[in-house]
Amino acid sequence: MAVMDGCEGGNKTWVLEERECPQCKAEMDVYTSRGRVVEDAVCSKCGYVIKAQEQVIPGMEKKES
Ligand SMILES: [Zn+2]
Repeated sequence: MAVMDGCEGGNKTWVLEERECPQCKAEMDVYTSRGRVVEDAVCSKCGYVIKAQEQVIPGMEKKES
């Protein structure tokens, strides 16, 4: 039986997934939920940040400043 910090209730089912850093190809751990990155992850080698992804809303675009 695995208990994780009393994080029960709610339907968060985050999965720790290994992704390849797009910049330096190092492996990095990211939290995903149903294939979507849910928390910013920082590459420990080059500092590249994989941003948490918003749920995709068709027709909406975000501008980055
Ligand atoms: Zn990297």
